Amino acid sequence: LALREVAVGKVDLVAKKLKNTPVKQLVEIKSELWLILEGINGCRHIDEFLYLQGLVQGRRDLTPATLRMAHLVQLQVLVAIKTRNPGFVDSATVDIPHSHLAEVLLNKRCWNIACRSALPAKDCRCSICVSRSGFCCSCMCIVCNQFDPQSNSCRWIGCDDCRHWSHTDCAIRDGHVRAGPNPNRAEGSGYVEMLWAMWRCFIGANLAIALPR
Ligand SMILES: [Zn+2]
Ligand SMILES: [Zn+2]
Ligand SMILES: [Zn+2]
Ligand SMILES: [Zn+2]
Repeated sequence: LALREVAVGKVDLVAKKLKNTPVKQLVEIKSELWLILEGINGCRHIDEFLYLQGLVQGRRDLTPATLRMAHLVQLQVLVAIKTRNPGFVDSATVDIPHSHLAEVLLNKRCWNIACRSALPAKDCRCSICVSRSGFCCSCMCIVCNQFDPQSNSCRWIGCDDCRHWSHTDCAIRDGHVRAGPNPNRAEGSGYVEMLWAMWRCFIGANLAIALPR
C-alpha cells in the first residue's frame, strides 16, 4: 500500500487494507510522509507535497460517517497532509484519539497538537471564530492564523475587550496597535501609552502582553 493510495483511496477500502498491513509497513508509510512534510520548508519534496495536498483537498467523501470507518494511520496521514503538520505522523507524538483526528479533518477541532480545542474554541460565536474554518481563538493569532510551536517563543498581545490574541509583530504590521492616550488614566498626566485596537471591536483597550491561556 503506497502513501498516495492512502491519501486518495476510498476510506473503507484503504481501512481494510491497512488493517491487514504489518506494523513495520505502517511505520514506513508514516515516516515517508513525515520526511516530505519536514522537507517543505527547505523546498525539498514540495512537488510531492502539492500533489498529495491536491488529492486530499479534492475529496468530497470525508464525512463523519465515512471517517468513522477509517483506520487510525489513514486519519493520521490525511490530517498531516491537510494541515502540513508532520507532528501527526511523527512516531514521537503520543497517540491522538481517532475521534479527534476525524474532527480536525472536519474543521471541528484545532490542529495544534498541543491545544486540540473543540471549535469554535471557548464557545466563541464571534464572526471570525464562526466563519474562519479551522481558526482556534485559544492558540492562534487572529492576524496570521498561526500558533507557536513553543507557546512562549514569541510575544503575544491580547485585546481586553474581545479576549482574542495576536502576535505583537502581526498587530503592529497590520496597524492594529497605535499610540494613544489611555482612557483609564487621569487627564493631564501627560502619559501616552501604546493602545491595542483590533479591527473588529475598534476599542483601544489597554495593552496587555501575555501568553494565551
Ligand atoms: Zn471569537
Ligand atoms: Zn488551538
Ligand atoms: Zn501572527
Ligand atoms: Zn478585540
